[in-house]
Amino acid sequence: MCSTASFGGNSCGSRDEEMIKRKTQKRRDVCFKCKTGDPFVVIRQGDPFCGTCFDTHVIHKFRQGLGKTKILYPGDKLLVNISGNVSSLAMLRLLATGYDTASHKKITADPKIVVVDDSFMFDSGESPVPAILREVERVPDMPRQVFVVPFQLVFLSNFRERCKEFYEGNKDRKIVDFNEMRVDFEKLADSARSTFSNIETVSAREDIHRSLRLQILSTLAGILHSTKIMMSDTSTDLAARLLSSVAVGRGANLPHETQYLDNRLPGVTFINCMREFTPKECAYYLRRLGVAPITVLTHSTLLDPIVGSVNRLTDTFISGLQATFPSTISTVMKTSAKLQPMSNCSRNCDVCLLPIIQREADVTDKMSELDLEDKLCNGCVIALSECEQDVREIVPKSSNVKAILDEFLIS
Ligand SMILES: [Zn+2]
Ligand SMILES: [Zn+2]
Repeated sequence: MCSTASFGGNSCGSRDEEMIKRKTQKRRDVCFKCKTGDPFVVIRQGDPFCGTCFDTHVIHKFRQGLGKTKILYPGDKLLVNISGNVSSLAMLRLLATGYDTASHKKITADPKIVVVDDSFMFDSGESPVPAILREVERVPDMPRQVFVVPFQLVFLSNFRERCKEFYEGNKDRKIVDFNEMRVDFEKLADSARSTFSNIETVSAREDIHRSLRLQILSTLAGILHSTKIMMSDTSTDLAARLLSSVAVGRGANLPHETQYLDNRLPGVTFINCMREFTPKECAYYLRRLGVAPITVLTHSTLLDPIVGSVNRLTDTFISGLQATFPSTISTVMKTSAKLQPMSNCSRNCDVCLLPIIQREADVTDKMSELDLEDKLCNGCVIALSECEQDVREIVPKSSNVKAILDEFLIS
């Protein structure tokens, strides 16, 4: 043991520290996995990956999630929701690795790519769909059929029946574009814009927008006889949603909102397959593949995070914490994985499809006046109670999305 430490000499302790520092410094110069490759990205502190090891790492993580849950079976019709954002493009590329002929464990599900176009809602109005279709076309190996669905269709009174009828007549096409339906899209777009402008807060607008998007996806799942829908929310998205859900009255349904498998609706499973990924990993993976990002707008994109939505504010807060405390998001995700969904819920909300558990008394009174008492969950009642328009115009007309699912589950 060195005895000079207490006298301020060159102690063993400081030599150790120097050695560790030198080792760390050395480690940062080469890949943390293979110890030879040039560093490409640092994911965890002090652990740089070279490009090849990074690819292996993300592909393994993606496949591990699917493998652990044993959710995909051969021939499954799998809806893949591509919005054009970084995580959805990364998800598409990661899924495609499972169809690569060199892959030793192939994915045998039949992928159906769904693009919901809501660009008319935002000022620029420029649709990301052409760029997404070009990107989908560039993906090698994977079999694919693409469905383009204009968001405003959800405001059509007999939306499900009309979509089903259109699909039956066009089911063999490579790209099934619902824009070709004989519907007055401009009138529907005006109706959608006016509805959303009547919802007072950006938080409520984002909340209802997301719910209606899930309506479209689950309806399409019913029409295509599919029971699985891949979503691309990252760990940051889900951690922010977990915290903001409590603030917007959706605390009772946290497990559905944040876990790997979201079984909110009997018969359909939403798969949060990017749950373990950060936006940084997605962005660097796309960079490796030379995929350019696509601009996708949301209700709060152009707003200051402070005056934006609860979800955006929480996202900014949690990303800030993560920058200083790198285990923040993984701790939130681990906590959410332990939550159990409530049982004994006989009905799902007509807007967000979550099980109806309980509502606060004051908002229940308002819904009871409108004869919507048993049709909406607490979160949707709170979001819609700020709406100046007749709430009944937003609640889908054919009341229960389960109907179309039941139809094919029974047949
Ligand atoms: Zn390496
Ligand atoms: Zn709801």
